[in-house]
Amino acid sequence: MKDIIVQKFGGTSVADIEKINHVADVIIKEKENGHDVVVVVSAMGHTTDHLVKLAKSINANPSERELDMLLSTGECVSMSLLTMAIQAKGYKAISYNAAQIGIITENVHTKARIIDIKTDKLRKSLDEGNIIVIAGFQGVTTEGEITTLGRGGSDTSAVAIASALDAQRCDIYTDVEGVYTTDPRIVPNASRLEQISYEEMLELAHAGANVLHPRSVETAKQYKMPLRVRSTFKYDNKGTLILGVEDMEINKPVAGVAADLSQVRIVVCDIPDTPGEAATLFGALAKENISVDMIIQSYARKVSNTNDIAFTINQEDLPKTLEMLELINKELKAGDISYDDNIAKISIIGAGMIDRPGIASTMFQTLADNNINIRMISTSEIKISCLINKEDAQKALKALHDVFNLGCDEIAEVKGTLPDV
Ligand code: ASP
Ligand code: MG
Repeated sequence: MKDIIVQKFGGTSVADIEKINHVADVIIKEKENGHDVVVVVSAMGHTTDHLVKLAKSINANPSERELDMLLSTGECVSMSLLTMAIQAKGYKAISYNAAQIGIITENVHTKARIIDIKTDKLRKSLDEGNIIVIAGFQGVTTEGEITTLGRGGSDTSAVAIASALDAQRCDIYTDVEGVYTTDPRIVPNASRLEQISYEEMLELAHAGANVLHPRSVETAKQYKMPLRVRSTFKYDNKGTLILGVEDMEINKPVAGVAADLSQVRIVVCDIPDTPGEAATLFGALAKENISVDMIIQSYARKVSNTNDIAFTINQEDLPKTLEMLELINKELKAGDISYDDNIAKISIIGAGMIDRPGIASTMFQTLADNNINIRMISTSEIKISCLINKEDAQKALKALHDVFNLGCDEIAEVKGTLPDV
């Protein structure tokens, strides 16, 4: 059996017919290199955004099942067009949607997780000499319901399929040349990373670097699937290889800096200081599938015997969260509940900061030198995040990128726009 390469092409890579034809050439080149090729494709250009808009213009709060029915069509269009393009160039190719293969997800709409991928059909189809093109972003439940994996989820489809097929590598083709030390649109001397570990990439992705869907990196890490982020349009370039930290040589404490502008901070004041309150609060959010990022609980006030809990969520979950908080407040008996969306989360990330003291203080000092106020702080082994005011985000990003020596000498030519998520 030949080695399998899984290639994923994002929306900007298949935005029009000319680009689809170019992508077909990239795929054929890999096939000609002697590999079996399985392709995962996103919807063309801004199709998904357009579909979401259409849905919302009909119903401000569309049912999630119907949203999935609608959004999953975008990838079906691109997969069949791409397959036709490959066939027109004289190669055997076939497209499959998630239900045809059996990309089984949990029974959750708009952000389902993949639980299993059947490979029989894929293997048979490869044996018959086909290049396979699969619709990303979608799945099917065991009851046959169509689901989607969350915005940007085709990356996760690709990595999960690569892992299920035990592929040699999963190449994520996009319109940037790899993973950068930070967003090159904001910091022009941002440099492309040759390599980055799964752990760092995961933190970068969660911190707001929109290059890869975080769950795709988690899956890659779990199955030790080497990932390469590379440019569709300059495909001789090496891109960035993402691999296990044990396979890397780390020479800088910080690998990258990221800003996440999509969070909202919620503050629940005066929660009685008794066991189980945080569990009630976050249990309720978890039940609604709302992910919480930073959490801070204040010291209990002696007189009132209450404390405050502040946490951040994604903007899109705000209405659901407020609704939920209102409901459970009967049980919580908290005081004021407020939110603030004028915030940005700035993070520095690097496996090299383990056992290297002084990194956090350098970060805080740099923000202070730039007169930037820190509103919340959270840390992990390889990441330090600060919540700051939104208007300070660019300044913070530039200053931190500088202080940790992440820039390259040349000012980047325009490296494309960051991919849509
Ligand atoms: N088309 C979907 C989206 O725009 C999935 C993806 O592109 O990965 O979110
Ligand atoms: Mg994407």
